[in-house]
Amino acid sequence: MQEPVITRTTCPYCGVGCGVLATRAPDGTVSVAGDPEHPANFGRLCSKGSALAETLGLDDRLLHPEIKGKRAGWDEALDLVAETFATTIAKHGPDSVALYVSGQILTEDYYLANKLMKGYVGSANIDTNSRLCMASAVAAHRRAFGTDTVPATYADLEEADLIVFVGSNFAWCHPVLFQRVLAAREKKGTRLIVVDPRRTATAESADLHLSLEPDSDVPLFLGLLKSLEAAGCRDAAYTSAHVNGAEDALSAAAPFSIARVAEATGLSQADLAAFYAEFAATEKVVTIFSMGVNQSDSGTDKANAIINCHLLTGRIGKPGASPFSITGQPNAMGGREVGGLANMLAAHMNLEDAAARARVQRFWASPAMADKPGLKAVEMFEAVRAGRIKAIWIMSTNPVDSLPQADRVREALELCPFVVVSDAIRHTDTTAYAHVLLPATAWGEKDGTVTNSERRISRQRAFLPQPGEAKPDWWQIAEVAKRMGFSGFDYPSPAAIFREHAALSAFENSGARDFDIGAYETISEVEFEALVPVMWPQPAGAEAQETRFFAQGRYYHGDGKARMVPVVPRPTSKARSERYPLWLNTGRIRDQWHTMTRTGKAPRLLGHYGEPFCELHPEDAAAQGIEAAGLMRVESAHGAAIVRALLSEKARKGSVFLPLHWTDQFAAKARADALVNAAVDPISGEPGYKRTPCAIAPAAMAWHGFAVSARKPQAVASEYWALSPAAEGWRVELAGSTAPEDWQTYAATLFGLGGDAEWLAYQDREAGLVRLAAFEGEKLMGALFVSPQPVALARGFVTEALAERHSGMARYRVLAGQGGAGSPDHGAIICACFQVGVKQIIAAIEAGAASVEAIGAALKAGTNCGSCKSDIRTLLAKTPPSSGERPDRCTHADNDHDGGQRPFDLTPGLAREAVEA
Ligand code: SF4
Repeated sequence: MQEPVITRTTCPYCGVGCGVLATRAPDGTVSVAGDPEHPANFGRLCSKGSALAETLGLDDRLLHPEIKGKRAGWDEALDLVAETFATTIAKHGPDSVALYVSGQILTEDYYLANKLMKGYVGSANIDTNSRLCMASAVAAHRRAFGTDTVPATYADLEEADLIVFVGSNFAWCHPVLFQRVLAAREKKGTRLIVVDPRRTATAESADLHLSLEPDSDVPLFLGLLKSLEAAGCRDAAYTSAHVNGAEDALSAAAPFSIARVAEATGLSQADLAAFYAEFAATEKVVTIFSMGVNQSDSGTDKANAIINCHLLTGRIGKPGASPFSITGQPNAMGGREVGGLANMLAAHMNLEDAAARARVQRFWASPAMADKPGLKAVEMFEAVRAGRIKAIWIMSTNPVDSLPQADRVREALELCPFVVVSDAIRHTDTTAYAHVLLPATAWGEKDGTVTNSERRISRQRAFLPQPGEAKPDWWQIAEVAKRMGFSGFDYPSPAAIFREHAALSAFENSGARDFDIGAYETISEVEFEALVPVMWPQPAGAEAQETRFFAQGRYYHGDGKARMVPVVPRPTSKARSERYPLWLNTGRIRDQWHTMTRTGKAPRLLGHYGEPFCELHPEDAAAQGIEAAGLMRVESAHGAAIVRALLSEKARKGSVFLPLHWTDQFAAKARADALVNAAVDPISGEPGYKRTPCAIAPAAMAWHGFAVSARKPQAVASEYWALSPAAEGWRVELAGSTAPEDWQTYAATLFGLGGDAEWLAYQDREAGLVRLAAFEGEKLMGALFVSPQPVALARGFVTEALAERHSGMARYRVLAGQGGAGSPDHGAIICACFQVGVKQIIAAIEAGAASVEAIGAALKAGTNCGSCKSDIRTLLAKTPPSSGERPDRCTHADNDHDGGQRPFDLTPGLAREAVEA
């Protein structure tokens, strides 16, 4: 009998870079578990990582090349790409073409894409979606350190006595690391301070939460710098030996008294004083910064304002003391290493440095070399729109959803003469505009390396065959390069590319550059296969080591010193107005990743939030007549969305939050980035996703519906819809301003049914209530529930009915929307790992479970990744044990059909509203 095969690989989602053990059983099924030997996660996985095996199906995979929507062979497609790029370059110059790549691709893919554009096409018009998440951190590192170095390691989170999280919802966006922080806090009492306008899950765990005005971080850290100096915290020996610019930076900070900072940030002077005093008093302090810092039109200044505080105090590169930029994507760091940004050169060399350009060209023996920075992401798509870029190759990313003012990006691709998209997924909002589609391999099929936020290089290994005609990105780039007539692209394997990448890092280096992995320039295929996670630098001949940078200075500016950059708050073009009186903030939610092409396949990951929503403060909602769980419109000068209202006091008054994940593939009108202002940071080019003036209003609808369907609905004819997968079909939330003339015809179209189905129907025209269920034999093919208000219904029961057989009275239970005694409804999923619902947790609390640990013992909820612990804490706070009172604010009683069962699971989002209200 065959044995299961276990493959060590790395999670493809966030920058934590967790090790994964993927087990392939003899029957081909795959299961995943955390790798206990990986130093990022020591066996833990978060909800997304735990559900990876559920995302491996081939539904909607792009399996063959296509040209203009028709299947083509690889030769035909690659010839067309190479020929069109070559002709365009010959006619309009190297800058008339572009590559737009992704922090999702592997380092080897990234390396070749960069080599092709910069060294062979001779243009730096290659940028990456990492521009959208960490370019400001890169720019700040380069200004302060002379190179893009992350000084810290994850072990510092366990060494620190104080961790300050700035613009980072660590509990949801880097959950496994947050669990490491909480475990350390349990042992040694680490203090946590969170700087974030929203009371996020991370803020819920903090000792102090500073809910500052959006984008007011620069004054906050100028005030900190001034107070550190006043408190005598300057490390005079360190700054005089290793740092320039302290006096200028302090002069810039001098006007920022606590009173002035309070005015600029909206924080109380008492909270500011407490933060400043604690920072001053704690030697071992780590400042984590992430998207709330980087994604701003002053992102680089914010990051330098933070770094300045660490440089002044010498708290950098020491155990438990450092500024620490945490990346979003799994291989943002690998992209930085190979110069994947339009203003960088390979191996952390500087594109503006003629000697570095000559060195790289010499190493590649290439015919050309870009001699100026290329267009950064937002500029790049503007150039496409303006017709200056005439051919673009988009690889593994979805710019029609993820760039700011995303509708302009859609227009740009519509206008572009030649768009190539390499992707694993057939239908995305971007593939719709491709002239040529190239099928890429996905996680589980790819082979190469990625680098996580602590500079640790890990292997992603293939454990599945390449499906259909899918090919790795590096192979696609090499084939196009060869067909364009370039030599230097003959690679037999990813290991060969990795060897070259390692050799370039060591080439004419001798310690002059931070990034040096020369130890691997002769790595064999067998050694590459066996490569264990390793932290750079690893120069040739050195012992494998885990390194912090800069405790002894040795910065990478010409004089070997760091620079404290004198920053001051920048004027911004953004302002709220009578028409757009609120700030729009966008970001991630716990269980989804990017544009849901992968996480959107796992039903359990849509159990937490099942439809797009806007989180807003109840007072802002009341001012506009927006009801809890009602539909609302969010509008900016650039676009609009219709989403579910999630009222929460965790929102900051005057600001609303939209998750970034929903696309036209999952909802009618919920692309958050269509609303976002495209103003960018002038240094990094990173857009400010966290602050766009916006307005809100109720989205009045004549009817609301909920449906389940055994087949994926193809065309949903209603103004509002949101689709999510279920174990045996699909769930759809619906609403419209005009009711269809014939509900059965509407439902048959929605369910994709012909004339053979048997229907059960209940209709009360006066009350506007409709219930329909369609069966083929004993199989439920679809059910539709319509009401003038948001539909109150036990959604879990109706969804599970898709998987069951129904005859006789059981069919009427489906129509009634409630099961019998044997069909308990668990409510919206709070713990995605163990599928524990809100109602189960409330029942456990009422039965006497009085702590997160007790609930974990009773239901296992919160005992794996721990990301749901803050939700459980909220439920505990809202539900006195055995009181019989539930935190149920749901007002949409389903008059005739609820059977007295409350709280209703209207939608996962709404159930959360009930929890949070
Ligand atoms: Fe993957 Fe979660 Fe680990 Fe991030 S924290 S790498 S998403 S398992």
